[in-house]
Amino acid sequence: MLDSPLSNYFRLTQKQIVILNKIGLKTVRDLLWHFPRYYEGFAGRKAIADLIPDERASIHARVIKTEAKKTFRKRINIAKVLVSDGTGALEITWFNQPYMAAILKPNQDYTFTGTIKRSKEGKFSMMNPVFEQGEVDFNSRTGESGMLVCVYPETRGLTSRWLRFAIKRIFEKISDSDLIEIIPEEILKKYKLPSLKTSLHEIHFPRDLKRAEAARKRFSFEEIFLIQLIRQGYRKKRDEHPSFLIKIEKEKNDDLIETLPFELTGAQKKALGRIFEDFNPTGGLKPMSRLLEGDVGSGKTIVAALASYAAVLNGFQVAYMAPTEVLARQHFEEFMRLFGKQNIKMGLATSSEFLKYPSKAFAGKPTHIARAPLLKWLANGEIEILIGTHALIQEKIKFKNLALVIVDEQHRFGINQRLKLTQKNSEKVPHLLSMTATPIPRTLALTIYGDLDLTLLDEMPPGRKKVITEIIDPERREHAYEHVRKEINSGRQAYVICPRIEESGNGTSALALSMKNVKTEHKKLSMEIFPEFSVGMLHGKMLPKEKEKIMKEFREGKINILVATSVIEVGVNVPNATVILIEGAERFGLAQLHQLRGRVIRSTHQPYCFLFTESVTQKTKTRMIALTEAKNGFELAEFDLELRGPGELTGDKQWGISDVGMEALKNIKMVEAAREEARNIIENDLLEKYPEIIKRINSQSQSLHFE
Ligand code: ADP
Ligand code: MG
Repeated sequence: MLDSPLSNYFRLTQKQIVILNKIGLKTVRDLLWHFPRYYEGFAGRKAIADLIPDERASIHARVIKTEAKKTFRKRINIAKVLVSDGTGALEITWFNQPYMAAILKPNQDYTFTGTIKRSKEGKFSMMNPVFEQGEVDFNSRTGESGMLVCVYPETRGLTSRWLRFAIKRIFEKISDSDLIEIIPEEILKKYKLPSLKTSLHEIHFPRDLKRAEAARKRFSFEEIFLIQLIRQGYRKKRDEHPSFLIKIEKEKNDDLIETLPFELTGAQKKALGRIFEDFNPTGGLKPMSRLLEGDVGSGKTIVAALASYAAVLNGFQVAYMAPTEVLARQHFEEFMRLFGKQNIKMGLATSSEFLKYPSKAFAGKPTHIARAPLLKWLANGEIEILIGTHALIQEKIKFKNLALVIVDEQHRFGINQRLKLTQKNSEKVPHLLSMTATPIPRTLALTIYGDLDLTLLDEMPPGRKKVITEIIDPERREHAYEHVRKEINSGRQAYVICPRIEESGNGTSALALSMKNVKTEHKKLSMEIFPEFSVGMLHGKMLPKEKEKIMKEFREGKINILVATSVIEVGVNVPNATVILIEGAERFGLAQLHQLRGRVIRSTHQPYCFLFTESVTQKTKTRMIALTEAKNGFELAEFDLELRGPGELTGDKQWGISDVGMEALKNIKMVEAAREEARNIIENDLLEKYPEIIKRINSQSQSLHFE
């Protein structure tokens, strides 16, 4: 029954089907696993005339008038709705949800539940209430007691009320044999987790909050446990394959290090040591599966380069994959500089061009080549290091003896892309070095990187100064510009980041108009604010050639100010840039802001980051303050996780983890327990004992894309 479509049980309109599909509710299972975001405590039903300040209450009333506007002084977006129930009228206000004015329809009845406030002038109002269309029968809603009301994640056109009705209906039809427990009983007992049947019931019809939470915990555990099983199973399979023995030629390695303009940091040396051990281990030769996690600017590229060098010295090939063309090109150039004297043959492959270095025609420069010769030179081993974007994964690209795969900014790739690249050899599995600067909480790392060994680059190159990060009020904008002017006059460069490329086509709303965009800002900055400087522009809609030209001019200092979207967010390295201005900062995630800020910590000059926001909610403020205060990316990541409430973790869809799963990540003990239990099963080959788990893993690992 769980896998049958919802339309078998409900008469659904075409519109309903579309909406249900949109949020992923197709089968009975989807519906039952669509958990409440939170529970509303029962609030007494009142007439508007009887309301008392500071008390929670429910009213059933008709909408008279709706209006979206900005508050007079703080310019906060609000929706104001006037309602009446015959005994009186009441004003309802939503802060930062101006669209509520469009969702609620005049002359329709709703039930609103929230706290009553009294203004200084004595006027009553309700703030940010929850609501449902029509009259709610509180007695029929939750099992026996009717005390807790489930509030589900909603979309336009799909209400909690309908979901409650639908789930109840399903529970009337379902039998115990439909609900097959997948967590082994010993594990349930050991961690005092409720059974599947109990949990499903308590999460949708809780008798009390404690039981609802226990149920949630069970589902959190289950999700993490399954991910761990998949990841560790994958690692085990990988480990069964032989890999390449890469001997370390210490002298040649040291000679290359000698040519660097800097000393390696202790952390870089340690990381290299780990990698070299994996290349040439004392025990059996398993393929390396290592994640190098280092804050932005900690110097991951050189570690990757030295690892590549070791592989090439052994006569093997290396593939280095980066998420953007700009970055691939940058790495290619860094490698040309670094390996200029070593006579290493390199190629660049992106979706728009192929390059080969060194070229016969021009000394010290790469040549453009066609695709066919590139493929030939990869297959016969003539090209030793291939750098590129995901163009590298194409079937056609075959190597002679690919022994090392490097994935830069690996969180930008799906696990499948990572796997594809490491499967390019038939018998032996190449070593994998994954790199990321996205500092993520330890619990998340343990979960989604369950198949990787973690190495931290927890030390910055010497002399790096902490970025002075400031939130700039609108009236101080000029000061920030003055500061940029000063920096440029003393020889530095600046980035200005905007959330969008151009004015949105249908941008008639105040919100869309106020959102800063690259094209308009570029015009304004180059003509009005900084006419004396050269101002360039970079965004994702430009042709690769144009992008490369702009990056080159910026790198060479011909452009003083680069106005860009977040395309520069990952990896771009122009050490002379020391100021970054971020417009509409609240539109970027904390991790993303941290990455952006990382663009200016690539030298020993004092770097600055100025944040402009378009809205000033308390949440925005807290997040911005976190950014100014966090010591490093890891601290910021932990903070980010803490800051998010229920329902707000959805932003992490990229990790392939649900809201409930994300909740587990706030609990290191639970994550470690799930990991431990999964390891026990995988290492001792016990999985066969649990056919239900295998079934779930198989269906899940197809649909899930981690990272
Ligand atoms: P990320 O870890 O963000 O990828 P990069 O590898 O791009 O960082 O390095 C950032 C900058 O720091 C580069 O200009 C690089 O040449 C420089 N760098 C790397 N290692 C060191 C070091 N040990 N000492 C000084 N500068 C370094
Ligand atoms: Mg990098």
